[in-house]
Amino acid sequence: MSQGVLVVGASGRMGQRLVALAPGAGLEVAFGVDADGPRLADLDAADLADVACVIDFSVQAQARATAAFCAARRLPLVLGTTGLTADDQAAVGDVAAHSPVVQAANFSVGVTALLDLVAEAARLLSGFDPELVEAHHRHKVDAPSGTALALAERVAAARGWALPEVARHGRHGLVGARAGAELGIHAVRGGSVVGEHRVLFLGDGEEVVLEHRALDRDIFARGALRAAAWAATPGRPPGRYGMGDVLRTP
Ligand code: NAD
Repeated sequence: MSQGVLVVGASGRMGQRLVALAPGAGLEVAFGVDADGPRLADLDAADLADVACVIDFSVQAQARATAAFCAARRLPLVLGTTGLTADDQAAVGDVAAHSPVVQAANFSVGVTALLDLVAEAARLLSGFDPELVEAHHRHKVDAPSGTALALAERVAAARGWALPEVARHGRHGLVGARAGAELGIHAVRGGSVVGEHRVLFLGDGEEVVLEHRALDRDIFARGALRAAAWAATPGRPPGRYGMGDVLRTP
């Protein structure tokens, strides 16, 4: 029997794909909510009887309310919305006290693997200068992308750096020569680019480039649906998980 999911942001670019692909992932969309209604607050306990997991791909301003909704009802959460503040993240932590939460800036299998690959490259290529370039469609509202920040965090951690201290968001003017511990992050916006992330390790006389290109947003939707089925599996312990946990654990 299919498990029921509640999709927040159901009318959006991602939400529409989640609704379309859910049946193929063995899930049934019990409810889809969006800004123009119905909204989360309109749902009562009877509506939620068949909901085994909430999936949120909406906007930063909604993510904390979704987390509070899940925490109050002890519902598992798959959270794809990016641009969250520290307070939003704390609210997500409250959900994880009682239910599984899978949060990823990028639910694709390829980027999940890339996160591990860049960490390994950052360690092996210790004398190389890392730089990160990402590109997205003209409608994206946050920059750099959540995926770029996640990749940057992995590079910084592998080097023993604190990201806020080494991140250089774009460069302009007399910025001076590149510091040893520095990680340039550059955001390109335009057209219909689904999502590109390139991590460059620039050495003396040689360069290594690791790149992921999303050709279709269905890769995110399929990953998020897989995460929802995983989070809703009876007996899954509460806690905060990433897409890597979903791929590694049956
Ligand atoms: P979108 O603008 O097309 O869709 C967002 C939807 O949320 C809209 O339909 C909007 O009306 C709705 N919304 C706004 N306020 C709401 C509210 N209060 N309650 C319910 N719904 C509300 O954006 P998108 O491209 O679908 O992306 C959505 C989010 O997912 C963004 O944060 C984006 O960065 C992120 N994203 C994550 C991944 C990933 O793999 N983690 C992939 C793609 C996009």
